Amino acid sequence: MTELNLASGASYFKSPEAAVAAAITAINAGQTYYGPAEGTAELRNAIAERYLQEGVTINPEQVMVTPGTKQALYNLFTILLRDDDEVVIPVPAWFGFYELLKYSKGRLVTVQTSLEDDYSLGVNALRNVLNEKSRILLLTNPANPTGRIYSRHELETILELLNDYPDLYLISDEIYDLDTYGKPYTSALGCKGPQERVIVVNGFSKNFAMSGWRIGYMVGPTKIMKQSIDFQSSTFSGVSMFIQEAALATITQQSAALTPMLEVLQENRRIMQQGLEAIPNVRFYVPDGAYYFFPDLSYYLGKTTPDGETTTSTEDLCNYLQNKHNLVVVNGDKFGGMGHVRMSFAVEQPELVQAMARLKDALLQLI
Ligand code: PMP
Repeated sequence: MTELNLASGASYFKSPEAAVAAAITAINAGQTYYGPAEGTAELRNAIAERYLQEGVTINPEQVMVTPGTKQALYNLFTILLRDDDEVVIPVPAWFGFYELLKYSKGRLVTVQTSLEDDYSLGVNALRNVLNEKSRILLLTNPANPTGRIYSRHELETILELLNDYPDLYLISDEIYDLDTYGKPYTSALGCKGPQERVIVVNGFSKNFAMSGWRIGYMVGPTKIMKQSIDFQSSTFSGVSMFIQEAALATITQQSAALTPMLEVLQENRRIMQQGLEAIPNVRFYVPDGAYYFFPDLSYYLGKTTPDGETTTSTEDLCNYLQNKHNLVVVNGDKFGGMGHVRMSFAVEQPELVQAMARLKDALLQLI
């Protein structure tokens, strides 16, 4: 039985032709030196232009290019967090945040959201954890792993809270912002509220299947960008010129790459939804964006496998799927969603169809 892997955070798509061509041209032209730490003027302008087209006015000085979104987050954690500061993260959330925090000063504070409430983030739940030590509220929109999109109204309600906490910044990780399936999407940058404390991090890894290029960016108050540029310049320098050129070509010809990918993702989302609907006792949220489902498989915990083993934990269940059915998914416990698993639908369609049949078969063998 061949392995079917739904665990990766990277899609199977190829990077845009425009990116590859621009990188090769730039390398041949000798652009293999340090790029400016803040990003090239052309790329910063193009990113500002991208937001302008969405109705959000950004000064290119508010944009900083980073070697990936992860690094943008790490820059911000380093600059913003002081001893004892708290970083508030609604969960389920991407486990990368917790890993980054191991190397930063902040202390993680989670706010549980649930499938029953469609992963809404209650203002009261937030108020219960916010205090004078709260320094960063970190949202992911669309979310990984749930695919939940916060509406403009939800974001503006959350932003209103910031008025009561003058030291608190909102960091909105919008790395999946172009992977959406019909629900209106608003960047935190386009919302009413204290924008001097709003920072968006974004990148090319997900929207444009460019995870290996290591390029991302952030947009926020000029003062924070300046500090971040200084930090990045001291620790990393700038993203290589030919990679910045590739990113520029991608963003200026964005729809050529995006439209075909989104068509496939839309169809794959339907296939995975139908596959999950065909399995009894599985509950899930239909993702508004990103490319994962995060189904609750807890009904299948505490069951016996054909080999007589018990699926006591989510880990046992994932091991059973992997070892007995060669189907790889991510244990949802890592995201703060006990009994759930994360499954990517950014995989080849025939594999996806097979994976859904295999999942059903595997779960129905549990008694
Ligand atoms: N943020 C989120 C929510 C992600 O899912 C990921 C990748 N899994 C990243 C950031 C990392 O992005 P990059 O490759 O740009 O560092």
